[in-house]
Amino acid sequence: MTTTPVTSLALPSSLAPLSSLARGACPALSAPMQTGDGLLTRVALAAPIRPDQLSRLCDLSRQYGNGILDITARSNLQIRGLDDHSAIALEEAVRHLSLPLREGLAVEWSPLAGDDVFEVTDPRPLGQAIIACGRPLAERLAPKLSVVVEGGGTIRLDHLLADIRLTAIHEDGALHWLLTLGGTAETGRKLGLVTDEDAAVVTQDLLEHLARLGPKTRGRDIDPAHPGIQRLGLQERISWLTPDTANADPAHPSPFGLFPLAGPLCALRIALPFGQMDAARLAALAEVSARTGILWLKPAPDHALVLAGPEQACIQVLDHAEKSGFITGVSDPLAEISACPGARACNSGHYTTHETGRIAAREASALLDGSVRLHLSGCAKGCAHPGPATLTFVGAEAGTHLVFEGKTADTPFKTLVPHTETAALAALDRLVRLQRQPTETSRDCLARLGPQVIAAALSESR
Ligand code: SF4
Repeated sequence: MTTTPVTSLALPSSLAPLSSLARGACPALSAPMQTGDGLLTRVALAAPIRPDQLSRLCDLSRQYGNGILDITARSNLQIRGLDDHSAIALEEAVRHLSLPLREGLAVEWSPLAGDDVFEVTDPRPLGQAIIACGRPLAERLAPKLSVVVEGGGTIRLDHLLADIRLTAIHEDGALHWLLTLGGTAETGRKLGLVTDEDAAVVTQDLLEHLARLGPKTRGRDIDPAHPGIQRLGLQERISWLTPDTANADPAHPSPFGLFPLAGPLCALRIALPFGQMDAARLAALAEVSARTGILWLKPAPDHALVLAGPEQACIQVLDHAEKSGFITGVSDPLAEISACPGARACNSGHYTTHETGRIAAREASALLDGSVRLHLSGCAKGCAHPGPATLTFVGAEAGTHLVFEGKTADTPFKTLVPHTETAALAALDRLVRLQRQPTETSRDCLARLGPQVIAAALSESR
């Protein structure tokens, strides 16, 4: 391996400052966040839980909230529809459940860590070491600061934003960690490789540097030329990558359905449509899981739930999930749609996002061919999908803005008359059916046509 001085690395232009619409600090259990349907509390789990514990959380969401639960893109469980009093009562009740609650610094790894047959290494020992060294610094770090420890394997966290990311790589016959600052695995700034022995202490040094700079500083802001970083002597402990290792093990989408784990158990991955479900249906799944012998389950990235147990138990739960409205395969168009609660569920919503999403999943099969990410956002806050999507519908007072390959805050190419979202999706579906060439995906087709042609087609269809 050759060594490149850390100082020569430039900040990627993709890591632009967050827009003024960015959300505030994470709504942790003791700091619920105000949303359009009341207060929202986040239950962040550091380890798997039993089915009966999920069942109990569902009961609590009905007792104290509005009986609607979310699993977020970053694997957190959220309980919605609370008020000032019920949020306090819920916190007390949740703390009595003896759940493995994650407190302090958010250090994330795969829900299959330690059981995944394809992982490069179990990320938990390094993750635990980082949690321990981050504990005294937590108050001085940005509230949303996150560290991702990617051990490789079936469920990857490459697409999640992280202030500091460590990705396991075998290099020269030894375990190393690729250190990346800010962004996703693809867009973040790759600093280089650290040895397994040095990984925790290098991360601790970076966290201490961030703590010294204060809670507004994020991983993407770290300047390798800063004297504070120079004094850390990272140059001696970080070695630059060969072109091969820089692009090693590209990200892949997490599979749905059953897959084997190390040892005798199987895993099952299913997802919640729009990342949300009523407590009764989630509790029913938990009850079937307990009855059939599922040993543990855990909220997973991308609004998913991973369950582990004997193969027969996983098959029975999959059968129940298929009949109960969960997403169980990539062929389900609902898997391509991100939608916030929208109008009726949230006071800020300007249109009914879930209803629109369900109609699109049923009637826009040409458009939703597996290549398109459709984001239906009730307003500009973009709660459901902070990142860019192929098509984003943003509810607003004067009409619904359409953004192509961007986020809710990006410039729209078209504004729809209010309440014509489903008609626009039908028109987009017709456009793709007519214009898509044999070798193209829907996304390729839309990109070739471009926003002007798409906008014209939408105007003609009115
Ligand atoms: S994005 Fe959706 S859920 Fe978030 S505030 Fe706006 S309407 Fe409400």
